[in-house]
Amino acid sequence: MPEGDTVWNTARVLHRALAGARLTGSDFRVPQLAAVDLAGWTVRESASRGKHLLLRLVGPDDERRTLHSHLRMEGAWRAYAPGERWTARPAHLIRVVLHGPDAVAVGYHLHEVALVPTAEEENLVGSLGPDLLGADWDPAEAVRRLAAGPEVTVAEALLDQRNLAGVGNLYKCEVLFLRGVWPWTPVGAVADLPGLVGLAHRLLAANRGRWTQSTTGSLHRGQTSWVYGRRAQPCRRCGTAIAKRELGERVTYWCPVCQPEPT
Ligand SMILES: [Zn+2]
Repeated sequence: MPEGDTVWNTARVLHRALAGARLTGSDFRVPQLAAVDLAGWTVRESASRGKHLLLRLVGPDDERRTLHSHLRMEGAWRAYAPGERWTARPAHLIRVVLHGPDAVAVGYHLHEVALVPTAEEENLVGSLGPDLLGADWDPAEAVRRLAAGPEVTVAEALLDQRNLAGVGNLYKCEVLFLRGVWPWTPVGAVADLPGLVGLAHRLLAANRGRWTQSTTGSLHRGQTSWVYGRRAQPCRRCGTAIAKRELGERVTYWCPVCQPEPT
């Protein structure tokens, strides 16, 4: 499940594969961009902003454009060597193919694919809160935005990318467990918001640069999380069975004892 660190890693993979490369061709399998051809365009850089991927390009006439994509739950980008078979996902999930001289980037199951003037990039991502993995990470601003909605449950507020950008279900669950906070506590009743935000930042930053997401410090299979994905398994702190609640794409795991409902 893509969270901010996964998107950050993906941006780096794309950057390594394509930065500086002049594209030899492109194939957009989304209706709104079906006629676009990026042959002759050069990839300047690949960046992430929260869960948004931004591939910045410069055209033959020095025109600047940004290819935007969002991974949501299932999206992914893969880089292949020229001639290598594209085996990561089924072909019908391919949305974008970018051919470079040394690599081919294939985007699967992407959402919100758009090509916009780079100067208008902010229109796509401007409403995002501070990016947990951005160079301009601003914890005080994240706390301020969270606190502006005191009646919202803290689990919802952490997922709202307008408050802070980068947290998905995994980090949401893990942060709340580690802080001992019941997920449905209203934000206004959370004792230490700066502590919560600071921990979210540390957990994402620790996983930057690797694909195994761990919040426990262990990279061993089955030991990488405190509560996430551990329904009915014993809490690593108190032995109580971990609980799970699912609402659409929002899934929450928590320990009923370590994260008691406020009375
Ligand atoms: Zn527990």
